[in-house]
Amino acid sequence: MAKRDYYEVLGVSKSASEDEIKKAYRKLSKKYHPDINKEPGADEKFKEVSEAYEVLSDSQKRAAYDQYGHASTDPNFGAGGGFGGFEGFGGGGSFGGFEDIFESFFGGGGRSSNPNAPRQGSDLQYSLNLSFEEAVFGTQKNVTFKREDQCKTCHGSGAKPGTSPETCPRCSGQGTINVERQTPLGRVMSRQTCPECQGKGQIIKDPCVDCQGSGRVAENHSVKVNVPAGVEDGQQMRLSGQGEAGYNGGPYGDLFVVFRVEESDIFNREGSDIFYDLPVSFVQVTLGTEVEVPTVHGKVKLKIPAGTQTGTTFRLRGKGAPRLRGSGNGDQHVTVKLITPKHLNEAQREALKDFAEAGGDKVGDQEEGFFDKMKDAFNFDSKGKKKK
Ligand SMILES: [Zn+2]
Ligand SMILES: [Zn+2]
Repeated sequence: MAKRDYYEVLGVSKSASEDEIKKAYRKLSKKYHPDINKEPGADEKFKEVSEAYEVLSDSQKRAAYDQYGHASTDPNFGAGGGFGGFEGFGGGGSFGGFEDIFESFFGGGGRSSNPNAPRQGSDLQYSLNLSFEEAVFGTQKNVTFKREDQCKTCHGSGAKPGTSPETCPRCSGQGTINVERQTPLGRVMSRQTCPECQGKGQIIKDPCVDCQGSGRVAENHSVKVNVPAGVEDGQQMRLSGQGEAGYNGGPYGDLFVVFRVEESDIFNREGSDIFYDLPVSFVQVTLGTEVEVPTVHGKVKLKIPAGTQTGTTFRLRGKGAPRLRGSGNGDQHVTVKLITPKHLNEAQREALKDFAEAGGDKVGDQEEGFFDKMKDAFNFDSKGKKKK
């Protein structure tokens, strides 16, 4: 439906003064006011006139309209025209006062104002806790949560079985009524939530006892979640249609499952790569060895060459987590961490000193001095043997 030019709607020229526009609007809004004019189409005309006036009476909006046409004002332009923006307060029934038609026209989301139009239900979010391994390998979980579902007794109509809701006679199902209001700038059209039906557009004379006429009940809902291998903490998955029931036959909302992954005591994970610190002794890295390294895929043998420095990282290809998008696994990165022994027995200490001397090294002077002093104090010789 093509939108008519605002100047044409008000029947004024493009150079019309503010006064001329105001006069034209007053005349036409009276003529088409739905409370006065019951002819079919009058309501549409009235909306059209109000909308045109809303733009042309504001110098900034008028200038934008002159430059860009309808695209300058209507977020809904091209989507069937319309008179959007009542969504925010139309449905709740708590809105009791006046709402300036102009504010609502610009403030809203541009959805249909018909309270009986099908609307999608709300989306829900569910936090799903996973162990480190479950996130790596994927799993299947049943989750149960409360959601608003359609009342099965009345199939969502809210009316007692055998009866049906009636269209509100006051607002003809629109949910809102138009009211003229006196302001310092003259008469202004306002839209008010219909007091008869509280904006629902329908009246239920005999409410369903199971949902008290709301057509909805909170119920426990269970859904099976297939957690793919390789998910990470904070990632989410959308299960469409598992949210809350829609309104007026609209579709269900979606369920967003947010994964909360426990940390591992031994592994760190970044994407598909897993990091592991391998504790090794001085002797192991000095002489070289083969060790068994834990991975999420089980133990894996790793050769540590002689002379490996602490901090060296080895890569175990394909031993990381599965790649969430794509194929195969990431790697496990094994970082060698030299553990210095805290307690040595006598034989070990001797062996280490012999080791140092065999290499032509003196064990650190300071340490030697300190060592000797201690020995002397306890009457031991420098070899740790008791003096005679
Ligand atoms: Zn019911
Ligand atoms: Zn009503």
